[in-house]
Formats: sequence, C-alpha cells, structure tokens
Amino acid sequence: MRAITVTPGRADSLRLVEDFPEPSPDEGSVLVEAVAAGICGTDQEIIAGDYGEAPPGATDLVIGHESLGRVLDDPSGSLSPGDLVAGIVRHPDPVPCTNCAVGEWDMCRNGRYTEHGIKCLQGFARDRWRVSPKFAVRLDPSLAELGMLLEPASVLAKAWEHIERIGARAAWEPKRVLVTGAGPIGLLASLLAAQRGYELHVLNRTASGEKPGLVEALGGTFHTSTVPELGMEFDIVLECTGAPTVVLDAMCQAAPNGIVCLTGVSSGRRIDFDAGALNRELVLENNVVFGTVNANRRHWELAAEALAAADRDWLARMITRRVPVDRYAEAYHPEPDDIKVVLEFPH
Ligand SMILES: [Zn+2]
Repeated sequence: MRAITVTPGRADSLRLVEDFPEPSPDEGSVLVEAVAAGICGTDQEIIAGDYGEAPPGATDLVIGHESLGRVLDDPSGSLSPGDLVAGIVRHPDPVPCTNCAVGEWDMCRNGRYTEHGIKCLQGFARDRWRVSPKFAVRLDPSLAELGMLLEPASVLAKAWEHIERIGARAAWEPKRVLVTGAGPIGLLASLLAAQRGYELHVLNRTASGEKPGLVEALGGTFHTSTVPELGMEFDIVLECTGAPTVVLDAMCQAAPNGIVCLTGVSSGRRIDFDAGALNRELVLENNVVFGTVNANRRHWELAAEALAAADRDWLARMITRRVPVDRYAEAYHPEPDDIKVVLEFPH
C-alpha cells in the first residue's frame, strides 16, 4: 500500500512508498481506510529534518497526524464498517505520569508520550492504518469531506475548555474576543468563539485570499493593524501566531480579569521588552496568560460536536487545496493564500 514517509533528521527525504507494509494488528484492532490527511506546519518541520522520530527499530516515519478515514473492521464492535473516524494523535507515556494515568496525555509531565506521524508512532498518510478503539473518534457522516479538520479543532476545543476553567475562578461575563492570526488554528479558534456568541475580532498580517471573508462569515471583524492600534481591550485573547511582538502586544491588551491563551510556537527572533511593565499589568488586572498544546479524548469529542454544529460551506472554504496522494509533492509545497491543504486518498 501507499505511504508518505520521511527519514527523520534528514532534510527533504519526503517520498511516496508504493509497497509500504500493511499496518500490524499490534497498532490497534480498528482497521481504517484513509480518506484524507491534513497538512500543517509541524509536517513542514519534519520534512525539513528539524523534528520527528521514527518508531523504535524503524528508520522511516510515515507522516500525517491530521487524519480522516472509514472503518473497514473493528472486532471489538465499538465501531461499525463505514464509520467515519479520525485517529487521536498522542498516546500516553509508558510510566505513566500523573496526567497520562488519567487520560490527560495532553498534559504529560515527562515528555515520554508518543504521537502518530510525529514521534515514535507511524502516521496517517498511508492507505490503511490501525488504532485501538479508545484512540478512534467517530465523526458525523456529513463531515466526509471535512473531518480532517478534527485534529486542529481538538487543540482549540482544549484551549477553550481551559479558558473557561480559568474564567470560573471568579464571576466572569466575557464579551469581546481577540484572535491573532487567521491561519487554520486562528480560524478554528474564531469558529469556537462565534459558537459561544462573543464579539469577535481577528487580526492578521495580510488581507488576501479567503481569510477576511471567513472571519466576516462568522460575524467577526477582520483587522490588519497591530494589536495596540485596535484601541480596545479584550476579555479573552487567543494568540495563534507565535510572533514575539504580537504575543507581547496580546498580553498587554487584555481587559481586567482577562485571559490570554498562547497557542503559537515561537522560533528564533529575540525582542527587547519591559518585563516589569508586563508584570504590573498582569498583577493589577488579575490577568492570566497560559500556554496550551495538544488535546485529550474529551477535547476530541468536544471538537467533533463543534464541527458537526458548524456551517459545512464555511468549513469547506478553509480547505484551499485538495491534492491526490500520487501528487503528494504539490500538497507539501506551500502556496500563497493556502489555509488548509489536504492530501486525499482515492481508493
Ligand atoms: Zn505522561
């Protein structure tokens, strides 16, 4: 069968293997036929050789962690043939740590978790894959063209759950939300904000392509200014760029009792900033700044509900290119105005 693989640590080793072995029953009892795999920045880092780890004993890693497939067989009976499913990316560490022991592998404390298509588990960019039932999440059948958005949506379902848990520390009636960055993460953060009925503002560096229209379709306002230029304060900020200046501006623009959720991973560039001023702002306004990554099963299920409740045409507009697996090189080559690019597995 076909699989898209890399040799981790070696740049540009991405290739299509035509005779990759069928998934082993050790990988899980649920056999799934791939429908599609979404592509994100983590895949690009793995392709560049900066990230990724093959399973023990293997030299190559099948990439792909944003999955969508149809169940071919599940002897456990929890899923039926034809069910639309996505595979949960992260698996708990073997110790397990306090959090992994209770299914909170997204909060793993020792870093020994494994992840499909990223770290020590083969990914989903192959014709067939296997998972155990507890790592398969069923999707509404009407999401057959769109369900590969579940993985990024699960990350935002966790972010919103944690925002709400932090907000519950005191009486809290948030009204205005700022999302920085209108890539797939920022847009899904915006979708969940709109579903909650908040006044939504989305800031992005440029206004080309589908992004402004997608924000407006959610009832939000699209901005290309800097955060301070907006001239307003926000009860909730979801920072989805990782750009150091935007991160800092976002932290300083929170309203009293405001919550700033950081989802972007920064790299490289250093900036000077006034740590004392930031401290004063956070203390005197009871602000919270927190980081979030990954998602556990509860978040995947919340995300499946959120996608099922979303407008199908809106979700479809987020997917700016669909490329069949045989033309995989095009899929992994970024183009201007890409939002989400999807690799499809015609059978
Ligand atoms: Zn753990």
